[in-house]
Amino acid sequence: MIADATTSPKHDGYFANIWKTVNSIRIGLQITLKYYCSPVVTIKYPFEKISFAPRYRGIHEYEADKCIACDQCAKACPVDCIYIDKSAPRKVDKKTGEVVGGELLRYAIDYQKCMFCGLCTEPCPTDCIHMGKNHDMSSYSRDDMIVEFAELAKQGLKTPIPRWMTRNAKKIEWVAKEKERVERGELATTEADLTAV
Ligand code: SF4
Ligand code: SF4
Repeated sequence: MIADATTSPKHDGYFANIWKTVNSIRIGLQITLKYYCSPVVTIKYPFEKISFAPRYRGIHEYEADKCIACDQCAKACPVDCIYIDKSAPRKVDKKTGEVVGGELLRYAIDYQKCMFCGLCTEPCPTDCIHMGKNHDMSSYSRDDMIVEFAELAKQGLKTPIPRWMTRNAKKIEWVAKEKERVERGELATTEADLTAV
């Protein structure tokens, strides 16, 4: 007797396997199509500008001319990553409103340790340390992650100019504007904030 090829045990499940394969491809394509047609939730950074929550906590901005080196921020820091040094006590002159006294020798933050909690900004009596809007400070060495804010202040800067900003300023308009703001020593504005919902 000759065996029927379509019913022989050798071919059991043959068509079922083809169906499973075709069906799994159909399901995959259906999911792909669904997300292809959905609104885009990612952006082409840095070509498109990021929007931030109004209370976003980025790389600090520091106003050295207002700092009295009282150490309150360093004491509030839970990871001890703020380093301050002065030649003598500093205070705000009540008549002029300017900071007088010793020289500010160092104000540095180690971004290898900083967790952007913002606790350092709260006790500051002169409101001179702020959480900024810059979020990216990648670098090639660990030393670069320790930002010497008092040295930056000598160049008129309140926050560092990150590498990505320098690299992209020539080709991306919003980056060029942001770099100019940092170079002018201006604090971050709310311009990049997400609109309220
Ligand atoms: S709390 Fe403010 S004034 Fe005091 S050292 Fe820190 S940044 Fe300067
Ligand atoms: S943001 Fe938090 S961790 Fe960073 S320096 Fe300020 S207190 Fe310290």
